[in-house]
Amino acid sequence: MAKEELECSFCGRKKPETNLLIAGLDAHICDRCIEQAHGIVLEESKQSDNADLSSELVLRKPQQIKGFLDEYIIGQEYTKKVMSVAVYNHYKRLLQPASDDDIEIQKSNIIMVGQTGTGKTLMAKTVARMLNVPLAIVDATVLTEAGYVGEDVESILTRLLQAADYNLEKAEKGIVFIDEIDKIARKSDNPSITRDVSGEGVQQALLKLLEGTTVNVPPKGGRKHPDQKFIEVNTEHILFIAGGAFDGIDRKISKRLNLSAIGYKAAHDNDAVDLDNLLQYIIPKDLKDFGLIPEIIGRLPVLTYMDPLDAKTLRAILTEPKNAIIKQYRKLFEMDDVEFSITDGALDYIVTKAIEYKLGARGLRSLCEDILTDAMYDLPSGDEKKLNVTKSYAEDKLTKTTLKKLKAVS
Ligand code: ADP
Repeated sequence: MAKEELECSFCGRKKPETNLLIAGLDAHICDRCIEQAHGIVLEESKQSDNADLSSELVLRKPQQIKGFLDEYIIGQEYTKKVMSVAVYNHYKRLLQPASDDDIEIQKSNIIMVGQTGTGKTLMAKTVARMLNVPLAIVDATVLTEAGYVGEDVESILTRLLQAADYNLEKAEKGIVFIDEIDKIARKSDNPSITRDVSGEGVQQALLKLLEGTTVNVPPKGGRKHPDQKFIEVNTEHILFIAGGAFDGIDRKISKRLNLSAIGYKAAHDNDAVDLDNLLQYIIPKDLKDFGLIPEIIGRLPVLTYMDPLDAKTLRAILTEPKNAIIKQYRKLFEMDDVEFSITDGALDYIVTKAIEYKLGARGLRSLCEDILTDAMYDLPSGDEKKLNVTKSYAEDKLTKTTLKKLKAVS
């Protein structure tokens, strides 16, 4: 074909009529057609994203949800069950077509009370993983009322947008985990002259978010980028899960239980109270007594608790979950062709130390890391292709200094 006869194989424009004509193997395409095609690609991918979203959000039944949670989380049966129902109801509400009866299903935002390291974050992460929705984990302690030093509550939604790769539709169906919600409790019952910057004000600011509202969110967050365009985020379908240790709330619970026991003269009922796990008797009033405002409690209607982790649970956490710590180390060693094994005695020893030093589940990882660092350093360059960790090996590696160090961290 002579040069002057070149034309776009899509629209037929001659080369001089185009700004640019790109040659392929057997055809040419002009700049206009490229733009048009690009538009089609974008449109298509948007549609398939949306299709993905609704197909991703397959509504599993509560028992299936719990089955999924069981694979990753040891124990915590009550919370897993409550969580499964709450998540099911939440997404049922979200997927239901608008109807003309006046029954509006309330949001099932959740609040989990339990010591640190008992799996609250893990619970939120696992639910998000199962649903394949974005998850933002935020720490309530950094939040302040607008205008004060710290982050505005809107920053929560900035995080969620980031977790959703700025796909607004995905973000609006995501999950927000607010950790350490107990740290924004009202400090005292007496309103003081100085404003309670980090407490009640933040609770007030959170209210609207929890309930469902449209918020202008700075996509890059914070006040560092004052010129950015705001993105409007609707929180109506966002599931909020709050967690906190609520240190000392057990005293409030026990006080309440004793009082009612006297009231009903149920001395033997009182005997049945499980003093080792008072959290299981928690009711919304205890949260109020702790310093959460009633409106916040009302907007977190699903209240649940985490059991403390006993030796048996800690032992299971080491080896049983789908991505259990020991399984992870085995995989790491496998990559260097090292066959890794650990004896029951060594596992029990690790658990004993975690309990002795009050390290909880989080400490299990630090303990393992300390025991295995030497091996992970030496074995990749050596000839030894087997590592069997016994109790005495673990004892040998876990020096007193290490334990002291761990204790300081916990
Ligand atoms: P929390 O949010 O309650 O402070 P995390 O969820 O961060 O606790 O848990 C701390 C660590 O302990 C995580 O690595 C988690 O995998 C592990 N863990 C805690 N509880 C459990 C559990 N019940 N089952 C499995 N792993 C757990």
